[in-house]
Amino acid sequence: MSLRDLKDILGLKGQFILLVSTVIIGSALSVGFYLTGKVESVYRDELTTRGRQLVENLAYNAEFATLINEKDELKKLVEGISRDSLVKYVRIYDNRSRALHEYGDVSLARLAQNARFVPMDPADSLSTSIWRSSGSSGDALHFSAPIVMWESELDREQLGSLSTGRSATDKGHWRRLGRAVVGFDLEPINIAIGQARTTSIIIMLVVTLMAISVTFWFMRLITKPIESLAEITNEISRGQLDTRLDLNRTDEIGRLAASFDRMVESLRRSKLEVEKYHATLEEKIRERSRELEEAQKQLLQSEKMSAVGQLAAGVAHELNNPLAGILGYAQFALEKLQNRTTDSLTPENVVSFTRYLTDIEAQARRCKGIVQNLLKFSRSSETRNDGTFNINDALRETVELLRHQLEMKQITIVARYDESAPEILGNSGQIQQVFTNLIINAMHATDQGGEIRVSTSHSPTLGEFDGAVEVVVKDNGSGIPPEIIGRIFEPFFTTKEVGKGTGLGLSVSYGIICDHGGEIRVESEVGLGTRFELILPVQRKESAADTTSG
Ligand code: ADP
Repeated sequence: MSLRDLKDILGLKGQFILLVSTVIIGSALSVGFYLTGKVESVYRDELTTRGRQLVENLAYNAEFATLINEKDELKKLVEGISRDSLVKYVRIYDNRSRALHEYGDVSLARLAQNARFVPMDPADSLSTSIWRSSGSSGDALHFSAPIVMWESELDREQLGSLSTGRSATDKGHWRRLGRAVVGFDLEPINIAIGQARTTSIIIMLVVTLMAISVTFWFMRLITKPIESLAEITNEISRGQLDTRLDLNRTDEIGRLAASFDRMVESLRRSKLEVEKYHATLEEKIRERSRELEEAQKQLLQSEKMSAVGQLAAGVAHELNNPLAGILGYAQFALEKLQNRTTDSLTPENVVSFTRYLTDIEAQARRCKGIVQNLLKFSRSSETRNDGTFNINDALRETVELLRHQLEMKQITIVARYDESAPEILGNSGQIQQVFTNLIINAMHATDQGGEIRVSTSHSPTLGEFDGAVEVVVKDNGSGIPPEIIGRIFEPFFTTKEVGKGTGLGLSVSYGIICDHGGEIRVESEVGLGTRFELILPVQRKESAADTTSG
């Protein structure tokens, strides 16, 4: 397991508690061990000083009694120091290491003297020795001080007096009379030190436990609101903005919670505002879309009316001839009838009247056809007539409607229809409007004596379903300069003089063809002419059909 995994498992709380516990246990152990060690060493130093003083005093006081081997005096001296509770044994030796007086556990004294410790206290040593022993009879501290007397060569009366203030000029030497040995029992001290150690370990444990509990409690105080904060953040991310921390605290955590609550509240308000705005935005978009649709309809209609206006002029001319014929034949027949009665009609008269009336009927039918075409054209965008229609018929009707205008300009129109073309899905009126725009534009660009070719053809491999129908309108007119060809589909772009062009024809045509899921392409060369190509899919994709019908 990596350190990172351990951190994840412990979490913030666990990490903090682990850290604090380690620090507390570490410092408690070091302080505890340092203090007990210190107490122990102070205690031992104290003991050593006490033992040294005791044995040196005994040796000092025992000088005379040892010299004269005064046992009672030695006994009194030993009894004096044996009152000390720590004294385990006392022994006084003469110069030949014979015990002059013994007290207490002398086996230990013998052991100390005979075995390991004698070399530490050579017989001629004039200094105090201290050593420690531990064995079956327990831990002991031994003190051995020489019993000496000053032998002055100048003044022999001063024999036996041990003086620290002796002058350096005094001649003489210290003579060793024997030794005083005192043993201290260390067991009670060891027990006391052990107890102190146990007590300090217990205190350490209690302090550590208390510190861990306090840390745990403190961490809960910090992490609990953080956990609630995390829970609430989760709820907020799920969109529940009504939840609050509501911590009744005035400390940093309380302030954090309060500012978090304020943030959630402002988030909630913003969300409400956004929702409200969203709702109104949707309504606004719907409204705008309606307005846009309306404007598009109006644009389509105004473009149509402009085309109708242009057509009307030609149609008026076209109607003029048959109407003149109708008028002429009707007047002629009326004149003839006014001069005779029905009975006086000769068979020749009946034949000629029948011819007049047949002509009148034919001319009237022609006028009716022209007017119907015109009406059909002008009404086509008002009524939605989506459905399948024959593209050849649509083109044929348009050509017929424009034929007279073309003839007037002495422009030849050559039409070639692919009779195998299937019916296509769409709005025939709108498609006719596109044809009209293209043919009128070609007519405007072509001079007298020019030629316009229109054709349809079916390409079963084009497009997704039953292929597509291709319609071409080609003229040998002026052509479109390359610098403006990129702009001809822009609304209101026109090169025509005021009153002749609106600049809407191609942009509206483009919109209509796109609605039908088709394409419109142009190729042109200045001086040679222009070729417009429409590609209309036989079946439209659902989305395209929706756009058109919606
Ligand atoms: P309008 O006919 O009202 O000017 P259109 O959008 O129908 O508007 O045409 C834009 C321009 O494209 C025309 O003004 C003309 O310059 C150019 N144009 C369109 N068709 C032809 C064509 N067959 N030959 C030459 N120029 C053309």
